[in-house]
Amino acid sequence: MNLFRKGSKLCSIAQLKCPRCCEGDLFETPTFSFRKPFYMPEQCPKCGQSYFLEPGFYYGAMFISYIWTGWVSLLFVGILIWGFGVSVNMAFLWLIGLMALLFVWIFRVSRAMWLAMNVKYDPHALGRQVTSSHSQANK
Ligand SMILES: [Zn+2]
Repeated sequence: MNLFRKGSKLCSIAQLKCPRCCEGDLFETPTFSFRKPFYMPEQCPKCGQSYFLEPGFYYGAMFISYIWTGWVSLLFVGILIWGFGVSVNMAFLWLIGLMALLFVWIFRVSRAMWLAMNVKYDPHALGRQVTSSHSQANK
């Protein structure tokens, strides 16, 4: 079983694609370009799926982001301290550097996960554009 096949949740999350068609990008700029890091279009450019299902939709993604950040931090600091014998202060300095590098990626993956939990894959999405737009302004 290929976890990253088209239409799987992992496919859209790992590639930051629209979960409905798995083709349209969720973000316009590459993650590590750090240009327009938090901007998201209102809807999928390929199938028209709204990326903002309701007002305040991405509050839920904040909790996913929190869990991600917590586990990544614990693992990273733990490995540095117990695996490499780095001092606690040095480990936290390294953590600040790591988080400065990863915060946009974690933000984006969390939104992609949240959207993928709420939108189902539709193999015929590209033939059927969503025309009614109930999306909110992108904030
Ligand atoms: Zn789409």
